[in-house]
Amino acid sequence: MIGSPNGQIPVLVLREGTVREKGKSAQQNNIAAARAIADAIRTTLGPKGMDKMLINATGDVTITNDGATIVKEIEIQHPAAKMIAEVAKTQDEQVGDGTTTAVVLAGEFLKSAEDLIDENVHSTVIASGYRLASNKALEYLQSLGISVSVNDEQTLLDIAKTSMSSKGVGEVKEHLAKIAVKAISRIAEKTDGKYTVDMDNIQVVKKEGGSIEDTMLIDGIILEQEPVNPQMPQEVKDAKIALISSGLEIKKTEVEAKIQITSPQQLQAFLAEEENTLKKMVENIKSAGANVVLCQKGIDDLAQYYLTKEKIYAVRRVKESDLEKVAKATGGNIIAKIDEISDKDLGHAKVVENRKIADGHMTFISGAKNAKAVSILIRGGTEHVVSEVDRSLNDALRVVADVFEDGKITPGGGATAIELAMRLRDFSNTISGREQLAVERFANALEVIPRTLAENAGLDPINTIVDLRKEHKNGKSTYGIDVITGKVEDMKNNRVLEPLRVGMQAISSATDAAIMILRIDDIIASKRVETPPKMKESPGFGEY
Ligand code: ADP
Ligand code: MG
Repeated sequence: MIGSPNGQIPVLVLREGTVREKGKSAQQNNIAAARAIADAIRTTLGPKGMDKMLINATGDVTITNDGATIVKEIEIQHPAAKMIAEVAKTQDEQVGDGTTTAVVLAGEFLKSAEDLIDENVHSTVIASGYRLASNKALEYLQSLGISVSVNDEQTLLDIAKTSMSSKGVGEVKEHLAKIAVKAISRIAEKTDGKYTVDMDNIQVVKKEGGSIEDTMLIDGIILEQEPVNPQMPQEVKDAKIALISSGLEIKKTEVEAKIQITSPQQLQAFLAEEENTLKKMVENIKSAGANVVLCQKGIDDLAQYYLTKEKIYAVRRVKESDLEKVAKATGGNIIAKIDEISDKDLGHAKVVENRKIADGHMTFISGAKNAKAVSILIRGGTEHVVSEVDRSLNDALRVVADVFEDGKITPGGGATAIELAMRLRDFSNTISGREQLAVERFANALEVIPRTLAENAGLDPINTIVDLRKEHKNGKSTYGIDVITGKVEDMKNNRVLEPLRVGMQAISSATDAAIMILRIDDIIASKRVETPPKMKESPGFGEY
């Protein structure tokens, strides 16, 4: 570029091929992309929401209405749309439910912002108004939280059921809710009067077949393997479990070694030596007092023979992570060298047994010494059913855990959204200038939740909002739209309940994403570097 207007040489900071978009058009572009994601999933919100069928590049099909799953599975290209997908991810990681809510909220905040931009309100003003509104909303929401005790089993069940009401598990909700509440009650730990829940203490095993009702909670651990030999005991009571990270086998040397055997006697001696080593291993285990052995590696035939003779229940090729779970649950130590094992290393459980599940067998370790480890065996007719039960149970477990940790809940069905909107509109009257507009629009945007719930249930969204506003004006702060009865009713009475934390997180992450997108007025995109297709690798030596 020669001869710029003032005769100076222009400074080129952007690489050739870089695409740049500025100002309003950049903003519009970003908002449109982000809203597209929100629009795509809003029809899934609530118990009457529809499902999405997702087909990935390899043709695998997922049918779900789980917001987090949907945004995870669909391939999103646009960077602003990716920020919205991030909202779902954060929501899922932090609280485990409310992903659709968070995304729909973010979309609505952006829609309102777009209107304000068209009315010539600067996006910086919108952003600061939104921040103000969000902080106030969180403050109000916190004060709306209803305290609940972890001993209030009925409420915990209702929380679990509400989270599953939008999932395809219909009639078995009750059964799954019981499992979720029991599981969390078992693993929750109380320190200084506060509960914490470590989800790692719940092992989920999925096994196709049977019906959803066969899904069960096991106080202990499930291993996918059965005993190595059918002659071994199939059930061991008062189990003392040896946990071995190696195997009961003769070590194969890494380097290939040749052993010269020149006479039959020598061969005899060699085999006897091997036999002796294996026999010793079993003797060590036996004398430590174990009646169950779990090995991470293999178990030789001969070792199996001795173990069977000693009536020991032995399992091979147990996953390392499973071995660790068993160690934690049963209070045992994982041992690498079998000759060092002692009774102190053994884990304890009431029963270890081989159970037939569908067309396979599994080892159940129940009545573990430390009951802070439980397993859930998920059953269902097809792979799709099993996956949906898994997603539903995951939400149920997480919401019950949230309530254990915070002890606070709110009514669902859009009740809090309407209440917050009303209070925020009042609050906006105390603000002057254009920020006031932003706070008011933010308030109205919250109403997208009950509006969408009504819409998805085939109810009139405008009448619903009008009715809801009226009730809330009269101090009925727990009134929402119950899409099962189709009426504006008290959600507390109807037992549509959610953890406080779900709503808090949804508002804060949706606001963060909306503000982040609003503040962008310049998109500078480097030219994509096309990676050349990988050359087919030539076959290695020896493959000719
Ligand atoms: P998310 O991914 O946001 O959790 P869901 O599809 O699970 O989305 O829907 C959750 C919403 O459905 C919440 O606002 C919750 O209060 C609402 N909801 C659950 N049960 C009912 C009901 N019976 N009537 C109305 N709304 C309900
Ligand atoms: Mg949900």
